[in-house]
Amino acid sequence: MRPMKPKLAFTLILTCHLLMACGQSSSRQSTSVPTPITMNEQTIPSKEELKQRLSPDQWYITQEKGTERPFTGEFWDHHEKGTYSCVCCGLPLFLSDTKFDSGCGWPSFFRVIKKENVKETLDKSHGMIRTEINCGRCGAHLGHVFNDGPPPTGLRYCLNSGAMTFNAEK
Ligand SMILES: [Zn+2]
Repeated sequence: MRPMKPKLAFTLILTCHLLMACGQSSSRQSTSVPTPITMNEQTIPSKEELKQRLSPDQWYITQEKGTERPFTGEFWDHHEKGTYSCVCCGLPLFLSDTKFDSGCGWPSFFRVIKKENVKETLDKSHGMIRTEINCGRCGAHLGHVFNDGPPPTGLRYCLNSGAMTFNAEK
């Protein structure tokens, strides 16, 4: 094998430096944006991206229809004013104004931000008949909705904290 020509080696080193510089500047840009997801885009993140970005609990809940243990999630006892969004795609789901203390150990809401932002499907797993709720954009599993909520809707959207992110009202 012949040794690499000095000129070629120099070009390669220069190219590497340029690529690294580009990588640094783009990572600097992304740190100035609070979330990597553009809220107004109809972007559905790929499974690969989600696998890398989500915690094991968030993955289990949203992708494998898991349920976090009650009184353990980030938001069951969370009372700040703001918006709860899908942890996978960033679609806004619930406002803090519609959150109530259901005593069940999971964050509960009586109304969704927009009807189409949450999809409902019949869930017959675990020997129960329940209505599963999923993100209206990316299909992530969120929790269930029940008919024992407070007025004015009578609904109780029972969420997993791990399915949501929270943005405080400014
Ligand atoms: Zn989503």
